[in-house]
Amino acid sequence: MEGSVTYDAVVVGAGSAGCIVAARIAERGVNPRTGDRLRIALIEGGPYYFKGGPPRPGYGDPERRRRITNIRFLEFKPQPWPYDGLQNKMVGGCGLHWGGNAYLPFDEDFDHWRQVSGVDWSPEKFAEAKAEITQMYHIHSSILENMNRGNLLFHDAASSLGYKVTPVPMSRYNCINCGYCGSGHFCKYDAKGTTLPYIDLAERNGVEIIPDAEVEKILIEKRGTTPVAEGVRYVRSGQAGELRADKVIVTCGTSGTPVLLLRSGYGPREVLGDRTIVENPNVGKHLDGDIGRSVVCLFDVDLKDGSRGGVERWQLSLTDSQGRHGWMNVQMNDSPNCSVDEMYPHLLAFHPMAPEFGWEHKEFMRTAGKRVGGISVTLRAPDWERGVVDPNGKHLYRRDDPAILKRLDEGAEVALAIIDRMNPRPVRVNRKFPNRYTVSHNVGTCRAGENRKTSVVNSDFECHDVENLFLASGEVVPSGSLGHSHIPICTVAAYAWRRIVANHFSRGTP
Ligand SMILES: Cc1cc2nc3c(=O)[nH]c(=O)nc-3n(C[C@H](O)[C@H](O)[C@H](O)COP(=O)(O)OP(=O)(O)OC[C@H]3O[C@@H](n4cnc5c(N)ncnc54)[C@H](O)[C@@H]3O)c2cc1C
Ligand code: SF4
Repeated sequence: MEGSVTYDAVVVGAGSAGCIVAARIAERGVNPRTGDRLRIALIEGGPYYFKGGPPRPGYGDPERRRRITNIRFLEFKPQPWPYDGLQNKMVGGCGLHWGGNAYLPFDEDFDHWRQVSGVDWSPEKFAEAKAEITQMYHIHSSILENMNRGNLLFHDAASSLGYKVTPVPMSRYNCINCGYCGSGHFCKYDAKGTTLPYIDLAERNGVEIIPDAEVEKILIEKRGTTPVAEGVRYVRSGQAGELRADKVIVTCGTSGTPVLLLRSGYGPREVLGDRTIVENPNVGKHLDGDIGRSVVCLFDVDLKDGSRGGVERWQLSLTDSQGRHGWMNVQMNDSPNCSVDEMYPHLLAFHPMAPEFGWEHKEFMRTAGKRVGGISVTLRAPDWERGVVDPNGKHLYRRDDPAILKRLDEGAEVALAIIDRMNPRPVRVNRKFPNRYTVSHNVGTCRAGENRKTSVVNSDFECHDVENLFLASGEVVPSGSLGHSHIPICTVAAYAWRRIVANHFSRGTP
């Protein structure tokens, strides 16, 4: 029963990372003194909607299929957390609706992470974690037969300009190409690589999943002068409760984790003032991610047939000429985003390419669903000032750095050159770009590193300042990756459980 037992570990936040960490620690860890099976709780602020049997890729579980309609997570209740950065609030987290663009961490990512925070991670140390995630998420290269006309146009035009184009890695198994994918849809057919196999593994290994319980704070108490995490306080159906645990592992994501730590009195004194229990200036800092924009165009031929959403596609990468980290990634999207979501009538009607009214508007509504395309330009792992997450989860950062805008303009020029080379060419191209940018695929707000002056946890995910406290989701990844965020975060989580089991939940560990 919650509240009346002490768990060996409580994992807070059942998202992409939390499900991996809870499932594997329960499966592989033991009580170091007795060798007994561990008692683990996985506590989550949102509901447990997508229960059902083990995943059945390509078919789906009948119970889950009934619950998953072809709408986006933004249209579900409860709504995502009120934080910037879009965090799904339910058991499974963003690992349920993500787009499936599955880039394992590159060797350059490890160089970059070590460089920014001194973390001791390396491709060799992560080899098993990478293999685990490749298998659990069915990572493979985009399949050519699944690419639509828009993607082929991109491929031919970019290749003819001398660019090396490569297929985007994808995470799917027995995908039936339903098209409702890529921008926040859940997969009815269990074909998308998701958190579901880990949730199933967690349940089979006795993890107690406690949904609808928002954790308000981590209980940090002083033993002598040492701050120690003793458990969590949560609210469930309006009732407050406490859960005691030997270890508290927080996996509430890039925005959720710093918000929770700040609420618990752990963070920069300049933010917390006299609510400070433990000070660390890095909590909430170093917000990083991808910086992007799109060049949108309208064709007078169909770019896709039927519902083929074009989630699988070609891309090209341009390395920074000065050899700095920061890849410009350019890829074709068959709709302004990637799949059917923006093709909903109420969104299409307000599309920048839509004529305002009259017969032209009507014709646009009839055809544009298959004819609007775009090339997205993303600056990944950029060199920039980085941002901050405030106590309400707001992302604060500079959005008009001229150096970043210049680099994005260079990418947009490449995209325009590719568009101009397409055959057939689009009938309209939006050549005006905003002088602002936003950052997505966020990470880094409680980063791992060797020095507490620049990080919050060490390379083994142990908090520098609070004993028995661990962090292991997006917030610990030291900086933005060269390939989005989901698979890097999952790979870090797959490394985290290995370190936590080795150091704390193996027979004879202190
Ligand atoms: C629409 C969309 C598409 C995406 N597509 C891609 C893609 O194609 N490729 C890619 O690499 N990345 C993609 N991403 C990003 C990727 O999904 C995320 O980076 C990743 O899932 C984050 O994992 P996480 O474990 O850090 O956080 P999450 O999965 O968000 O997990 C955090 C969990 O903690 C819970 N939580 C938070 N606070 C509390 C609290 N106080 N109490 C209890 N529970 C709490 C949340 O409800 C959530 O379940 C996409 C994201 C979005 C929104
Ligand atoms: S396109 Fe996406 S949502 Fe549809 S079956 Fe394939 S993986 Fe699932």
